[in-house]
Amino acid sequence: MRTVTFHIKRYDPAHDAEGSTRVQSYEIPHAGQLTVLEGLFYIQENLDASLAFRYCCRASICGSCAMYINGRYRLACQTNVLHLHTDEVRIEPLPHMPLVKDLVCDMTDFFAKYEYIRPWLMRSSEAPAKEILQSPADRHKLNMPIDCILCGCCYSSCPSVWGEDHYLGPHALLWAYRFEVDSRDEARKERLPMWDNERGVYRRHTITNCIEACPKELNPTEGIQWLKMAAVRRRLFGKSR
Ligand code: SF4
Repeated sequence: MRTVTFHIKRYDPAHDAEGSTRVQSYEIPHAGQLTVLEGLFYIQENLDASLAFRYCCRASICGSCAMYINGRYRLACQTNVLHLHTDEVRIEPLPHMPLVKDLVCDMTDFFAKYEYIRPWLMRSSEAPAKEILQSPADRHKLNMPIDCILCGCCYSSCPSVWGEDHYLGPHALLWAYRFEVDSRDEARKERLPMWDNERGVYRRHTITNCIEACPKELNPTEGIQWLKMAAVRRRLFGKSR
């Protein structure tokens, strides 16, 4: 049986001063295949029931277990310790986010900004009797943004977010882009003021940390650049596409 040591950044608001964290280490036995999430379960079930972390499906499609692992943004359920090529694993909550406890961040602002851009189809015409068909080319435009699992890694990694509370962030703007390029959406006029402002695309400085941080290998920068171009086209020609 092999072992791996998890060094986990911990914070308990009941005992620790605000902003004061400590590192606690745990040795975990494993037979060769162990995800970081499975290791965290082992700790909670066998070594320390007070450890707090988020998870949901264990299939890398919900984003709940996003953490900072050995200096990189990763999903705990997707990260096999073998692939880290070390027996020492440092685990921290998403940096630059307010902490609730241990590895659990406060995602309130993150989801409020996501909801602000109204992430659902909006139509002015009557609901059709059947589904709304899309051409393969129109559907293709959605391929990248719809893979976003709202994990928060891009948001946590973005210096524009660190410096400006009101900035919507790469995730919200990626979702704004997702509905802008959806041929079924009919709310372009209503959507424009949500992101064509200082809270939105103009607060972003093309630092591209979001691309490196995204565990789904998405490109929020590409979507935000598209929105900027769409804003210019709309001003010059009255339409974005
Ligand atoms: Fe996570 Fe990537 Fe979506 Fe950002 S764009 S929330 S990093 S999946």
